Amino acid sequence: MTDNISRIRATLDTLLATPAFQRALDFLEQDAGRTVDELKTMAVIPGAPYKEHLQRSPMYKDRLEACGATGCRIDEAGNVTGRVTGTGSRPQILLEAHLDTVFPGETPLAVTEKQGFLYCPGISDDTASLACILSLLRAIRHAGLQPAGDIVLGGTVGEEGEGNSRGIRHLLEKTLPDVDAVISLECFGGEHVCLEAIGIRRCEYRFHAQGGHSWYRFGVPNPFHAMGRGIARIADIQVPQTPRTTFSVGIVSGGTSINTIPQLASMKIDMRSVDMAALNQLAGTVQTFIEQGVAEENARWPAAPADSVRLETLVIGSKPAGALPKDSLLARLTCEATVRAGFAVTPVPPSSTNQNIPLGMGIPAVVIGGGGICRNMHTLEESYSPKDAYRGAQRALLMLFALAGLDGVTEPLATPCPRHTLDASQS
Ligand SMILES: [Zn+2]
Repeated sequence: MTDNISRIRATLDTLLATPAFQRALDFLEQDAGRTVDELKTMAVIPGAPYKEHLQRSPMYKDRLEACGATGCRIDEAGNVTGRVTGTGSRPQILLEAHLDTVFPGETPLAVTEKQGFLYCPGISDDTASLACILSLLRAIRHAGLQPAGDIVLGGTVGEEGEGNSRGIRHLLEKTLPDVDAVISLECFGGEHVCLEAIGIRRCEYRFHAQGGHSWYRFGVPNPFHAMGRGIARIADIQVPQTPRTTFSVGIVSGGTSINTIPQLASMKIDMRSVDMAALNQLAGTVQTFIEQGVAEENARWPAAPADSVRLETLVIGSKPAGALPKDSLLARLTCEATVRAGFAVTPVPPSSTNQNIPLGMGIPAVVIGGGGICRNMHTLEESYSPKDAYRGAQRALLMLFALAGLDGVTEPLATPCPRHTLDASQS
């Protein structure tokens, strides 16, 4: 591992001592005003869930092209990618930010400025990162940097909420089968580093029955009562604090009227853990308790077997848990580059982002902040300060070229990465 650290430090020293690379770093600072202007323009283009491909994908493809990326395309899922082609094709490094926001299509989008902050829903998460990538591309072209491996830059769809990171899944499984390391830019400052991804399992349970009039049909199993029995059991589940594991029944719905035994009840549960085994165990316990609740309700009314409650289970969201080992090359490089960019390394608590997917496939992946100051994410008061944001971009540039190599100057630190497919419980 000492080997890794000395290689990383030597690579960063060489990059920083290379005039062309320094020109690119300086350019990022000079480009700050243009990047803010571009951010303001992009922030008002709607990125509503499942609609981000309509306007944002073509917009981002045009911008990548205008900044000098080659082979720009929109894939079947709506992801946008462009390349800075290396002298060799591997390693292949992906730098991405997400195109979608959490805000519905009818949300008014206008940028206002107050005390150095730009206000607009989605401006931090993750539009500022999309702007950062464009500035990086301009810097690479301005300084004429030629990577050894391929650098792929892009915007992904479906990161937020029920999007379940479907964009990066498709990107890594279909569009870019040879990616060797992934850097995701999120709405954090340039000092932030996230190495750990929270695994998520979301299930919907539907309880079907014949139901009927609450007076005349009294004596048949009731789907709400079955669901209640299950929820009562779930409420008492003991989960470990370490690894942190959580559960919550977030939505219950169904029923026809106050005087009807329902024909359908449904509940949605969100389960999370930083450990895949703990998450799988929790999901198994929840399933068992729900089945027990149904069995108990049906046994309560033995005279009506034809009216039994029937259970339907749907997995409506799933992301694998994963962690980039602290002593891995990418984790070490991220910390070293953060320090070289003038920051104190600030770890971000485990989160659920696009990082989950590559980690689940065995591809080294890290989430870093694109720079600036982000506030009130996922609220209508979301805001962003571009103050010194270029330093976050400088860190990303260091990481990109340390991993991909600078042709004729440094060898790539990344190596071709074998991968595995996500198993059924993760996809
Ligand atoms: Zn985000």
